[in-house]
Amino acid sequence: MAKRQKLSLRQKRRVASRNEKKLAATTTAIDDDSLGDIQSGIVISRYGEQVDVANEQRQVHRLYLRQNLGSCVSGDRVVFRLDDQGHGVVEAIEPRQSELTRPTAHAGVKTIVANVEQIFIVVAPLPDYSSLILDRYLVACELANIPAHILLNKTDLLDQQQQKYFEQQLTIYKNIGYQCFTANCTQAIGLEQLLTEMKGKDNILVGQSGVGKSSLINQLLPDVEALTGAVSENSRLGTHTTTASRLYFLPEDGWIIDSPGVREFGLSHIEPEQLIDGFIDLKPFAGGCKFRNCRHLNEKGCALAQASNEHKISQQRFENYQKIYQQIISS
Ligand code: GDP
Ligand code: ZN
Repeated sequence: MAKRQKLSLRQKRRVASRNEKKLAATTTAIDDDSLGDIQSGIVISRYGEQVDVANEQRQVHRLYLRQNLGSCVSGDRVVFRLDDQGHGVVEAIEPRQSELTRPTAHAGVKTIVANVEQIFIVVAPLPDYSSLILDRYLVACELANIPAHILLNKTDLLDQQQQKYFEQQLTIYKNIGYQCFTANCTQAIGLEQLLTEMKGKDNILVGQSGVGKSSLINQLLPDVEALTGAVSENSRLGTHTTTASRLYFLPEDGWIIDSPGVREFGLSHIEPEQLIDGFIDLKPFAGGCKFRNCRHLNEKGCALAQASNEHKISQQRFENYQKIYQQIISS
């Protein structure tokens, strides 16, 4: 059998986008009377006023949205109806289990993806690792109420000293209760274990630019045919922006969303008092502070300061809490 050349994620996106353009627009108005039974599906991607929805057999249809449905994003579970031409309408969006949001210019928040079950925060020795940045991601995940795991990528770049350092770092997070994974895209190491963890779940990768998210998704995803081949010939052309989120099915059950908009999601919309809820290891001590409104910066009788001195909590985590607090109030 001829060896199939693997496509890069960029190539996969390009092929997907080309396929979408090929789906020539047929702009017949949809007659409500011609629509069949209600079906369930999941939103793959949004295209302006339309969405691509996969049914339970993973066949994709490009559908219109009923007016006043509200935002409809990748990962949303929807009910829809099709006519016998394969044209159709999303009738309703099911309540979301989780949302990842980003702040808008007008102090609101916008949902970018829905129903993610677990987040992999990717870190690497290059670009420079920062536990502060990792902790910011962890806070964002905790406040979104979505379980987070840590994935150290590019282990091939670690020298002996760095290896020791990262082992120590991962130990801090394992001790708090976070699952930690390691991977190396260059030699395809660690990917099986990652896939096992992702299987049957709805996943997303986040992390700083350059840590290897695209490379990881590229290795984890099946071939591009599986991603785009099933798009209905009756779908219509929509506008596709390069920042669009897209859901990819895993080979068996579960999916990964690739969302440029959410990959580097931040904390700018949280209140300083909420921050402690994002530090699962520090929070249990907060009730013991002398002052009920203790900010845990340098107040008298702060139970966190005491716990840090007694090595009951990680000093690094406590310092990062304080740094992030300062960042929030000065932003
Ligand atoms: P993203 O911005 O997080 O999506 O990162 P990319 O996937 O674009 O990767 C950034 C750079 O890191 C690219 O040059 C990749 O080839 C490289 N890279 C990704 N994974 C690894 C790895 O495991 N080891 C090494 N040495 N380089 C990697
Ligand atoms: Zn305190």
